[in-house]
Amino acid sequence: MINLEIPKKFKPLATQANQVATEVFRPISRKYDEAEHAYPKELDMLASLIDGMNEGSDIGGAGAAGVRREKSDDGENRNGSNLSTVLGIIELCWGDVGLLLSMPRQGLGNSAIASVATEEQLERYGGKWAAMAITEPEAGSDSAAIRTAAELDGDEYVLNGEKIFVTSGDRADLIVVWASLDRSKGRAAIKSFIVERDNPGLKLDRLEHKLGIRASDTANFTLQDCRVPKEALLGSPEIDTKAGFGGAMQTFDNTRPLVAAMAVGVTRAALEETRECLEEAGVTIDYDVPALSQQAAAARYLEMESDYEAAHLLTLQAAWMADNGKPNSLQASMAKAKAGRTCVDVTLGCVELCGSVGYTENRLLEKWARDAKILDIFEGTQQIQLLIVARQLLGKSSSELR
Ligand SMILES: Cc1cc2nc3c(=O)[nH]c(=O)nc-3n(C[C@H](O)[C@H](O)[C@H](O)COP(=O)(O)OP(=O)(O)OC[C@H]3O[C@@H](n4cnc5c(N)ncnc54)[C@H](O)[C@@H]3O)c2cc1C
Repeated sequence: MINLEIPKKFKPLATQANQVATEVFRPISRKYDEAEHAYPKELDMLASLIDGMNEGSDIGGAGAAGVRREKSDDGENRNGSNLSTVLGIIELCWGDVGLLLSMPRQGLGNSAIASVATEEQLERYGGKWAAMAITEPEAGSDSAAIRTAAELDGDEYVLNGEKIFVTSGDRADLIVVWASLDRSKGRAAIKSFIVERDNPGLKLDRLEHKLGIRASDTANFTLQDCRVPKEALLGSPEIDTKAGFGGAMQTFDNTRPLVAAMAVGVTRAALEETRECLEEAGVTIDYDVPALSQQAAAARYLEMESDYEAAHLLTLQAAWMADNGKPNSLQASMAKAKAGRTCVDVTLGCVELCGSVGYTENRLLEKWARDAKILDIFEGTQQIQLLIVARQLLGKSSSELR
């Protein structure tokens, strides 16, 4: 077991996030798992509290809106907003990942805005809750295949298309919509646009029923002649075919470590609960004795815990690199792949180790096993992360290895 010390300046934030997870999230975790589509109103007050924490802090915050990509590298190693956000998310998801995803103003759209918005856009949209709409019926893993079109008409863009599986889509104030300025120009023409939730051109089609993260709403939309001001385009309107997909994809370097952090938090929750169950059953885990010389359950626990440690370290590394202006696409995908898979394997492994106690609703273990799967799907599936890692390690382009 590795005991990593949290940098001193982040300790209060991690402690507060853990308190929120313990005192607010855990007690209502089952309630909102059962009451799918009901808004967890307890989060309103909490969100204001987190806003306050973020405002009073120069290191970012506990939620997804805190991330920033540092522009310069002055040679000093920094533990900045990406790392603090990751640490906060781990604690909050130890409490409940569905509730974290439902936190006002902490959506993945907020990370996109924080990562690439201009100062004017940050000013205009900064305090709002933003969801992220990339996926379409014909474009999931292959996000370059999106069909939603954005056409310039005077001082406005007109968006037309369909977006599915938008996390917090119904509850957020804003939706960051990926659309193409010109489909004939391929990936480079894909830009993100900020659409106000009450825009009359944005029609909610339905909310999904899901296996896990039931506290979080997942919405499907149609965009029909949806008009947004020119200034709603995030980043540059230029179609730079040399830069390719870089602009839009850059967001993922910041958001993938956050999803990895969610997985790390859920994994830790399951491991801690399982350790308690094992201890109650008389199984002790001994770090001074080789795993295979211990009881089978203890050995299995140690194996799962080592996977958790690897996922945890990769996640911290990816966030730390972002804080230090270092290209982290490879590490962000490695962290997301390892943490997503580990979360699925470990939560199911914990249900297995605890037997009927793990499978029934008396404890949260079965819920965490259900919640885990999405963390290995959204923000790029397991297979897609491995593909990105392979491309980077082998120096292949997306057309050479797909
Ligand atoms: C609860 C939930 C919330 C979501 N939230 C959001 C959100 O907020 N915003 C958003 O834009 N999207 C969101 N999504 C969508 C999510 O990002 C996509 O489901 C995901 O990207 C996969 O796309 P797909 O479902 O179309 O699967 P597909 O792309 O059709 O993939 C199906 C399977 O094939 C595999 N596969 C695909 N291509 C390859 C390849 N080249 N090599 C090997 N295997 C491959 C995949 O890994 C997967 O296992 C959400 C989805 C869910 C279920």
